[in-house]
Amino acid sequence: MSVPPRSSLALQATPHRRFNPLLREWVLVSPLRTQRPWLGQVEKPAPPSASQYDPGCYLCPGNERAGGARNPDYTSTLVFDNDYPALLPHAPAGAINQTNLIVAESETGNCRVGCFSPRHDLTVPRMSPRELRAVVNMWTEQFQELEKIEWVRHIQIFENRGGLMGASNPHPHCQIWTNATLPNIPARELHSFEEYRNDKKSCLLCDYLQLELQRKERIVCQNETFAVVVPFWAVWPFETLVLSKRHCAAMSDLSVLERELLGDILRRTTTRYDNIFETSFPYSMGFHQRPSDGHAHAEWHFHAHYFSPLLRSATVQKFMVGYELLGSPQRDITPEAAAQRLAAASETRFPEMTSS
Ligand SMILES: [Zn+2]
Ligand SMILES: [Zn+2]
Ligand SMILES: [Zn+2]
Repeated sequence: MSVPPRSSLALQATPHRRFNPLLREWVLVSPLRTQRPWLGQVEKPAPPSASQYDPGCYLCPGNERAGGARNPDYTSTLVFDNDYPALLPHAPAGAINQTNLIVAESETGNCRVGCFSPRHDLTVPRMSPRELRAVVNMWTEQFQELEKIEWVRHIQIFENRGGLMGASNPHPHCQIWTNATLPNIPARELHSFEEYRNDKKSCLLCDYLQLELQRKERIVCQNETFAVVVPFWAVWPFETLVLSKRHCAAMSDLSVLERELLGDILRRTTTRYDNIFETSFPYSMGFHQRPSDGHAHAEWHFHAHYFSPLLRSATVQKFMVGYELLGSPQRDITPEAAAQRLAAASETRFPEMTSS
């Protein structure tokens, strides 16, 4: 049987699989399945936006947190150690290994919480440039401070928004976890960046971004410093990748203007998300910055991922079950169709419902 030329693969009409060069895995794309009737779970619509202050919120200014600490009357951002950390900086060292089948070792780390603003309701798409600048500066300062700690190898800054993504509190905030070892996903990306650089003498994501800027099929929005794309290999329905146009490895490499433009692109991206289904769009987002092991990591390209579960409305979400758990990730709407929806969405947020 002869193999048809690559250009004959009809990506919008034929089931196919796509390769993710960062993680070196395949995603199955099934464009025909979006027509099937939906009989699954229907989520409740998002509630109206919250008030500016919630006396029961452990992140609002002046309120008491679990464990008894009280938040200061902060006016911009606030960072504190998580009262229920998943990692400890002084975990007792130890390891077990039984014939390489039962293997464990202690892990050192710490967990901080960063509030974006004193306001309980001020999500990223609603923030002013000045407010966003404070958030980006907080992230940068945390990265610079934490990477000075001798044992720190990886700093993961991430935001979970919305109950669907497991956010326990609507007050806009991020988490900052540090590890003494490189976690799975950054370790796989590091390996891909290194191998690509050794092979091609260039950068995997610089080269990928050039392709996307030429093809223009999956670009959502851009400014002078950043471009947002639905990656060719996206798994989640409206997954995006935020790429710096200049090759750099961490937020601390950005100039003052570039940090300003990072805030700008995050606000515009999240506003588009909110507008797709006129809801406060749930997501997990996070930055992938170079390992903090004292090396320059010229192969690493600074970027951020947005993973969002909503599929066809504010009430229909994608589940990672069945084939995804047993075979490989799978998606129905194509990344190109998702990019078109996001690119067509307004950068002015839809009118607010007011809470009664
Ligand atoms: Zn709050
Ligand atoms: Zn690069
Ligand atoms: Zn990444």
